[in-house]
Amino acid sequence: MAKILIVEDNALNIKLFCDLLAAHGHQPQAVTDSRLALDSARAFGPDLVITDIQLPHVSGLELIRLLRADKELGKVPIMAVTAYAAQGDEEKIRGAGAQSYVSKPISVMKFVAAVQDLLPEGQKATAGEKNGVARDSAEKAGIDDTAEIDDPESWANEEADAPGPQDPGGEEDST
Ligand code: MN
Repeated sequence: MAKILIVEDNALNIKLFCDLLAAHGHQPQAVTDSRLALDSARAFGPDLVITDIQLPHVSGLELIRLLRADKELGKVPIMAVTAYAAQGDEEKIRGAGAQSYVSKPISVMKFVAAVQDLLPEGQKATAGEKNGVARDSAEKAGIDDTAEIDDPESWANEEADAPGPQDPGGEEDST
């Protein structure tokens, strides 16, 4: 239904987002290195970009600004996903140009609803697909489509993508 680019450095979150989006009939593509996100977006032509905020090299906030300033990609809706929701972050993220802001851990229903809200009419998963075909594939993928994911353990912890010993990670934007 829609091409959705996911910029996320955590493999478990990528799998979760891709499974969820595919289960709702969308075509997800993931990029783990935010330095490649603009090139990936230009090649893929997404209808929506979902970006993590805590990313090494180019932070999600910086990426949102870069996307907004891009001639080709400037109008693509952006949904930000962040593990650290400090006060003022939402304003900063929306100020940079994201239309939607979801903090982890999030519920499956809220995630899917936020995606639906940002897609143009013709590209939303239809009720039939959402409740029928996609529900079936969600079941096959082991996703409980109605579950609230409140347990932080269900989500890949952001600590998991903290810079390793080989990566000094000095450029990571912790804001
Ligand atoms: Mn991250």
